[in-house]
Amino acid sequence: MSAAHFLSRAGWQVTVFDSGVVASGATGSADGAVSVASKKPGPLMTLAVAAVRFYERLAETGVLADEFMSRSTFMVAAQPDELDVLESQSAQLEAADVPVRLLKGRALAETVGAAAPAALAAVEVQGEGHAVGYRVVERLRRLGGFTIRRNCRILGLHHAGGRVDGVVTEQGIESFDAVLLAAGLGSMAFLAGPDLIRPRKGQLIVTDRADRDAPRFPGPLMSCRYLVSKGSHPAGNVTEARSLGLVIDPLRTGQFLIGGSREDRDDKDVADADVIASLLRDAVALSPSLAHLRVIRVFAGVRAATRDGMPIVGRVGGADNVWVATGFEGDGICLGPLMGHLCQQMICGQQPEHDISALDAGRFGLTLAEAA
Ligand SMILES: Cc1cc2nc3c(=O)[nH]c(=O)nc-3n(C[C@H](O)[C@H](O)[C@H](O)COP(=O)(O)OP(=O)(O)OC[C@H]3O[C@@H](n4cnc5c(N)ncnc54)[C@H](O)[C@@H]3O)c2cc1C
Repeated sequence: MSAAHFLSRAGWQVTVFDSGVVASGATGSADGAVSVASKKPGPLMTLAVAAVRFYERLAETGVLADEFMSRSTFMVAAQPDELDVLESQSAQLEAADVPVRLLKGRALAETVGAAAPAALAAVEVQGEGHAVGYRVVERLRRLGGFTIRRNCRILGLHHAGGRVDGVVTEQGIESFDAVLLAAGLGSMAFLAGPDLIRPRKGQLIVTDRADRDAPRFPGPLMSCRYLVSKGSHPAGNVTEARSLGLVIDPLRTGQFLIGGSREDRDDKDVADADVIASLLRDAVALSPSLAHLRVIRVFAGVRAATRDGMPIVGRVGGADNVWVATGFEGDGICLGPLMGHLCQQMICGQQPEHDISALDAGRFGLTLAEAA
């Protein structure tokens, strides 16, 4: 949707095809952390810094006015073995010019003590934010300038004269000058290559509103175990089929969003009592006041995880007019608006304003699937 927005502003006639409705994929079931704190050090962290700044720019210029909220994230170590993770992630963030503040002793108690009495130490990561994925998509849709075809699955790319000249949909063939494959998990259907993207399910919990006496959360609390479960920290080259991290996110409504799991499954309509119970136990251990709240909803979504944990963004090998933007795993709400803008720049033949060579499709030798 972001690419459609920027391409239409650059003068292209754009059509978005979605096999369901927009934001019905991972974008509609995410927590919305526009966060550098949890990113893997290296190009992903650098791009996330740019992505947060890009959200700020879109909020200031009105495109995403009221849809982006600035805030700090608090990485919390509640077990002695998490202190190393806290220290090393904090050092990596500092090296990427992200302002961080170590909280120990009195500063810790004053800042997160009431919300996380079990905390041994915390790091405040400043200049982060929050945006609700489906609301961002809805804002861009309302700004308009392009056509949306809902419930219209793309079955394949249409080739003529040795190049792609359109798409084959359930409703027929449509001609286009350029195609961007941004179909999340569905993108691989158009690409030939090894099995690169796998589904990674996440389950999340929503509570009711906290009453006025509940401790005030200074921002989302991210347990250091979350960094390990996400694979952002070297200790966390996760190989298990299921891992649980913990983020307690105070929402604007007074509710809390508690997550989440990472499971090698794609059954997004199913919630498991044992996963939910474990997350709740961990959340209450970190912040006992949550025990007074009711859970009103649990939901799941499925992330598109690549083999190396990095998104795939760029031109598809062997085609001069087909681009791909997928594999955003747990980072697509943060990266999405910026990536759409960079895709627009590439499709317009410009140098993207940030270096995304680390995300290039060429690293996996991706080419187009057989002609439809
Ligand atoms: C539980 C959970 C929590 C998350 N939390 C965060 C977070 O806090 N911060 C963050 O930055 N990211 C988070 N993410 C990740 C983020 O949601 C995703 O990375 C992002 O939404 C991916 O966007 P996308 O557009 O690439 O894919 P999707 O949102 O999955 O969209 C793909 C779209 O393509 C359509 N489609 C598929 N195949 C076809 C086809 N053949 N023809 C036409 N249309 C097709 C689908 O219908 C769908 O609408 C989370 C994800 C989950 C599941």
